[in-house]
Amino acid sequence: MSELHFLSQLTGCFAEPVDENPSVVMMEAAYRHHSLNIRYINIEAGPEKLGEVVAGARAMGWIGFNCSIPNKVAVIEHLDGIGISADLIGAVNCVVLRDGQFIGENTDGKGFLKSLETVVSPVNKSIVLFGAGGAARAIGVELALAGATKILVVNRDKNRGETLVDLLNSKTKVIAEFIKWDSKYTIPDDVEIVINSTSIGLFPAIDAKLNIDFDSLRAGIIVADVIPNPPKTNLLREAESRGCITLDGLGMLVNQGVIGIKYWTGVEAEPSVMRTALEEIFA
Ligand code: NDP
Repeated sequence: MSELHFLSQLTGCFAEPVDENPSVVMMEAAYRHHSLNIRYINIEAGPEKLGEVVAGARAMGWIGFNCSIPNKVAVIEHLDGIGISADLIGAVNCVVLRDGQFIGENTDGKGFLKSLETVVSPVNKSIVLFGAGGAARAIGVELALAGATKILVVNRDKNRGETLVDLLNSKTKVIAEFIKWDSKYTIPDDVEIVINSTSIGLFPAIDAKLNIDFDSLRAGIIVADVIPNPPKTNLLREAESRGCITLDGLGMLVNQGVIGIKYWTGVEAEPSVMRTALEEIFA
């Protein structure tokens, strides 16, 4: 009988039963589709017990695990090493067993990038990034490493916005600029990609809208949202009605999972199977 390898998602406070957790449903759909003899289970563990949990994962021979908030930063001190972009981002959401060592990676931004690349390359592009939290850091770093020319970070909080811009300007080749978001924002004419990486639009506050001039979303530009629930946000509706090419947050979620499975097993998972599993929950 072949061995079972456990992958675990360490989460802060998921209230729903394990088999209704969207990430579990999505990952297990991929495992079934590819006949992978592994399981993805959800473990609730806060930062205070994280060292013991990671030691337990080592002892049990896990091949890796995902971490969600609040463990993405706290887990780093318990690992053996960290990938380049995860180091820049300062957060780990995916741990991979490589040569007996637990190495921290960040697949959030890489998942976004993989989703974006289905419609456009970020190379030499000018980009507006709304938000400066964890998702924005991950996305901003990956876009910069991938060769974007300019990133305008538009955020309410000055400190967070400037911290992200300083990181991008000091550690990557991109030109980053902070714009304080205290009035209706107009997308500049040279911008080709617009990304919402704030939590505006996330269930249950689904009617919330970004404070922007929607008429500045020009036909043909790319408009992407990180919000997975609901996938069709107000931003994407407004963008679609103006002829923009849209990408929803399910694409990022699915592709971070695809990258995780590749890291853990070497298998290139089929994204459509994973997306369908999520759509049954979110759509
Ligand atoms: P953080 O709490 O770290 O950051 C939240 C960001 O949203 C901040 O920049 C904050 O601005 C901004 N924000 C929140 N409310 C408003 C508002 N009313 N007006 C303007 N700005 C606002 O969260 P994360 O970065 O971790 O997550 C952001 C979103 O990304 C979440 O909804 C999450 O679900 C989603 N996400 C999706 C993933 C996917 O795979 N699809 C993966 C990871 C995250 P300020 O700094 O001014 O407070």
